Amino acid sequence: MEGNLTRWLRFLGYNTRYAKDYESIYGSPVADDDLIKHCFLEHRILITKDREMINKFNKRYKNIIQKNPEIYLKFDITHFLTPCMLLNSTLFTENMSAIFQKFNIRLNYDSKIARCSKCNSIINFVEDKKQFKDKIPDSVYQNIDEYWSCINEDCNKIYWVGGHFKDILNKLAEIKDII
Ligand SMILES: [Zn+2]
Repeated sequence: MEGNLTRWLRFLGYNTRYAKDYESIYGSPVADDDLIKHCFLEHRILITKDREMINKFNKRYKNIIQKNPEIYLKFDITHFLTPCMLLNSTLFTENMSAIFQKFNIRLNYDSKIARCSKCNSIINFVEDKKQFKDKIPDSVYQNIDEYWSCINEDCNKIYWVGGHFKDILNKLAEIKDII
């Protein structure tokens, strides 16, 4: 799946894996067969611009999924017995709108469910910003009190609602506008 879309889906709270996430296991580039295998084993929805990949996924797993709809039951997407989506646009906003229309995803930011856009882990509210003083630009530290930190110790990315957040909300409004 596209990197930009991956970051946004994580930001909106969706557990999302990017093809590159599997490079540590398989090397680069990760073969389509390995990607679709993980997609199936991890009960994920395959979102791609590659029609061939969707064909491969369907050929290999469609029957298994249709015979065992409970696999996808917990995601409340059993009516999508082929959990794949082919993206047609080169525009981020159009692709996000298409994903929204197909899966009825949330298009509102909620810090309680947002995931780390870098590594897909949960982010936690930071009770005391002092512990992260060294990791936050001074001008931000002085002006902002609310922070979230990625729980993955290899990542530990810090988040805050800064100036860029307005751009993010504008982008979400733009996506809603074209639905
Ligand atoms: Zn992270």
